Amino acid sequence: MTGRILPNLLNPLYQPEVVPFPAPARRGPREKLPEAALREAFEADRSDAEIAEAFGCSRQLVAQKRSKLGLRRREKADAKRAPSRFQSKVATDRAARLPPVDHPALSEERTIYPATVTAVDGLPNVLVSAANHWKIGGRIAKGAWSGFPVYALTLEERATCPDSCRHWRSCYGNSMHFAKRLQHGPALEDRLEHELAILQSRHPAGFAVRLHVLGDFYSPAYVARWAGFLDRFPALHVFGFTARIDAASDPIALALVHLVLERWERFAIRFSNAPVDECSTVTVEHPRQVPADAVLCPQQVGKTASCSTCALCWQSRRRIAFLQH
Ligand code: SF4
Repeated sequence: MTGRILPNLLNPLYQPEVVPFPAPARRGPREKLPEAALREAFEADRSDAEIAEAFGCSRQLVAQKRSKLGLRRREKADAKRAPSRFQSKVATDRAARLPPVDHPALSEERTIYPATVTAVDGLPNVLVSAANHWKIGGRIAKGAWSGFPVYALTLEERATCPDSCRHWRSCYGNSMHFAKRLQHGPALEDRLEHELAILQSRHPAGFAVRLHVLGDFYSPAYVARWAGFLDRFPALHVFGFTARIDAASDPIALALVHLVLERWERFAIRFSNAPVDECSTVTVEHPRQVPADAVLCPQQVGKTASCSTCALCWQSRRRIAFLQH
């Protein structure tokens, strides 16, 4: 006969082993928007949309939590609110932000917010509506592209840029703590092709893509992909800026010069701080320094709400001056 031999519980020498009951697994979803992080983002003057994007939750949730915590937007900001979806910000009252020269991001060719770099896999889309971007705006209101919805693409600054960029250290991305930077490479390019095909069928009359909110063209092959996209998707119109300006030594710049000259009407990419007076930009520290052949970006001085209400960058080839900020 077989069986389990039970301990003799009457034996006073018997010392039972105490096995702790396992702690119950934590149930329910993880808190999406921790209070401390929300407070920090609010103090950093981040909009609800920026916070929602950074934490992968809805703007309603951000607003609800913010109001529960008594974090109210200042009345001054409400008074200045532009008629666009998000408040337009002028550059005249903001100081330039520079990381220290020995900040590792500068020598390691990367953003100073590496946690925001996101792989394309698993993302619902890589082209996002620019309605969420206060400077760009969601739908073009004037000029030849009037009525086009606008989409934006954000890459990693410095990792995709030439180190000759005049703003290597003073990059605009230094103050974009929450922007989602897409990992660049073939996976991104394949997704772009997919999404542009969808946008072509959704907006056959035209749509615009702003390249790149952060980052730059990173290879001649990537430039060639955009040339192919222009051929395949007649509704596609592109505008933006590049720091690839040295066509003599940079094959990416050379490819861009060819594409811009051939396709400016649909590929209005300006060469930042290039020594040419057309299809270029120049950075100045004060409006007094704007060269005679350039026009100061009207959005930066509060004359228009966003690129969508301005259109200058693609309507004209004239040099645009930007205030450094
Ligand atoms: S000039 Fe107009 S279109 Fe160009 S960046 Fe400024 S607001 Fe945008």
